[in-house]
Amino acid sequence: MPRKALFPGSFDPFTKGHQDIVLRGLKLFDEIIIGIGHNTKKQRSFDVNRMKMLIEEAFQGNERVRVEIYDELTAEVARRTGAKFLLRGLRNTTDFEFENGISQVNRYLFDDLETVFLITSPQFAAISSSIIREVHRYGGNVDRFLPYKL
Ligand code: ADP
Repeated sequence: MPRKALFPGSFDPFTKGHQDIVLRGLKLFDEIIIGIGHNTKKQRSFDVNRMKMLIEEAFQGNERVRVEIYDELTAEVARRTGAKFLLRGLRNTTDFEFENGISQVNRYLFDDLETVFLITSPQFAAISSSIIREVHRYGGNVDRFLPYKL
């Protein structure tokens, strides 16, 4: 059985920090599904379909990575896709507090599901989607934080 992981997130936008987690995750898993969680009622800064295309472009030629957009419980997506692992990244204690909470809930909802955390690589530790959104909104160039050209 191939070891499949779901890497869920808002990815608004997908950054080099996220890419690093996926590339390192590929050492642990045979296949990684990048799940873009998108609540249709919520506004995004970066269009979700375009983001899917850009992520696919960043992983072009890598058949072990695929991208999906979803609007349902993350644990449900894992169940549906046959992913037995959730992959998440940790940058700091704030991430830890948040991740600890959702990981406990996911375990409650789907006790087969293990969350695997990778600590951020130092060169990407300061990259966050929210800061990139802010810089981009005011016309700043964010290219060096993204694994594709906007
Ligand atoms: P969410 O809205 O679910 O937190 P994000 O798109 O912000 O989704 O992040 C998805 C995952 O990637 C989270 O586990 C987050 O902690 C992690 N992550 C975000 N930025 C980085 C980074 N620079 N390095 C490592 N992990 C990161």
